[in-house]
Amino acid sequence: MKALLFVLVIVLTSCTFLFYPNKSPEFATDLVCGMKVNKSDAYVLKYNGSKYYFDNYNCKATFKMNPEKFITNKCVNPTDSIAKK
Ligand SMILES: [Zn+2]
Repeated sequence: MKALLFVLVIVLTSCTFLFYPNKSPEFATDLVCGMKVNKSDAYVLKYNGSKYYFDNYNCKATFKMNPEKFITNKCVNPTDSIAKK
């Protein structure tokens, strides 16, 4: 149980760090390298109905090869999934 809480804290902390820039309408986070990218001149990829932004073509290509690897850290209320168990 303690280990689970520890993981939760890590996930929440990294989510705050990774996704805070998304609160701004103009900037998004490149999930591959962690850079903030300006949406207006970013490389955009649509995947599973969501848009992902990248600072360069290599990041976009890397993401495209294995999207799930970079999306696993998404912030869908970790507390929710635990409550359902
Ligand atoms: Zn990048």
